[in-house]
Amino acid sequence: MVQSPNRCSFAARDKLATGYWQLATDFKLADFAVRVEQSRGRRHPEPSHAYRNDFQRDRDRVVHARAFRRLEAKTQVFTRRYSDHFRNRLTHTIEVAQISRTIAAQLGLNADLVEALALVHDIGHPPFGHAGEKALDAAMRQHGLSFDHNLHALRIVEDFELRYAAFRGLNLTFEVREGIIKHSHDYDAREHPELAEYLLDQRPPLEAQLIDLTDEIAYNTADLDDGCEAHLLSVEQIAESVEIFGDCYKDVRKLYPAAAEKLQFNEALKRIFDRLVGDLIANTRARIAEAGAHSLEDVRRYPERLAAFSAKVEEQRRQLKDFLYENLYFSPALEGEKEDAERIVGELFAHWMKEPEDLPRTYREKAEREPLPRIICDYIAGMTDPFIYQQYEKYCGE
Ligand code: MG
Repeated sequence: MVQSPNRCSFAARDKLATGYWQLATDFKLADFAVRVEQSRGRRHPEPSHAYRNDFQRDRDRVVHARAFRRLEAKTQVFTRRYSDHFRNRLTHTIEVAQISRTIAAQLGLNADLVEALALVHDIGHPPFGHAGEKALDAAMRQHGLSFDHNLHALRIVEDFELRYAAFRGLNLTFEVREGIIKHSHDYDAREHPELAEYLLDQRPPLEAQLIDLTDEIAYNTADLDDGCEAHLLSVEQIAESVEIFGDCYKDVRKLYPAAAEKLQFNEALKRIFDRLVGDLIANTRARIAEAGAHSLEDVRRYPERLAAFSAKVEEQRRQLKDFLYENLYFSPALEGEKEDAERIVGELFAHWMKEPEDLPRTYREKAEREPLPRIICDYIAGMTDPFIYQQYEKYCGE
């Protein structure tokens, strides 16, 4: 049979594309990395895709989720917008994904899984950043319950996202769901029997361990940047109090004595990035070798997490974080925003407890099967900052 030139070239292109994809994903994958072909799979089995592996599909499912799009209108640190250049939860998430992919490639980890985990890591955050989370948790505790953003993220991807006719949720692979639960917190199996399937007695794969640390690299550096931009922090103040910044800033001023202060600041920040990322790569590599970890099983069974900064950089990271807590997160300038967040979340929660008929129909129906406080919590946690303001005006306004 004679094939048309077009058909031939398509076939050749497809073959080339598949070959490239295998090279791109398998190249340099370390022995201790997660392998997509050994995934424990999805809750509802699905046929494999022609040209995307399961972790790539999970990453794409997260990107196309409604909860992911809402991150754009959720606070990272600043509730009120001091500037259009500030991070929100979506841009923070993209920064975490960028840093995570870079480190994953250097360590030979599964970059597709790392990217999916980075993109989903903050999907369970309520409006108003940590103030909103605290207020929501406080409201739940009045009813003997609690709020936790990782557990909420699991509810989103398992149940709330409705995209497919055959099942609720995104039907993500086990490894992505496990990473959502375990990347930043070790849950006690006795307190969380519902999480038993996620191997709580074992460490998460390095792909998930990495996310907690890249999250910190991203927000510690970004919050210095946004804090300065908001004039809540000064460059001198940071240089005096934060060793890692002071060191880098001194080098930059020697190298670029005539540059504008903002550019010197940016150069110093870039060097902090490199120092934190470089240290994390080198130290994690050394710890893996020291532990003799040659397989994913070795990583899982090792008594502690292997992804870590060196002792010296860990100390500098802690100092930077403490500085941010003292001078930015707990600063009097942000106090009013935090009080607003607590009042709005608290009053709206109380309103719907008293008047559940003011909830949207789908939530009223859910409340027939689950406790009302949990349903109100789910509703509030999913809101963006502008939407919760709107709801507050509607139900609690003067
Ligand atoms: Mg984060």
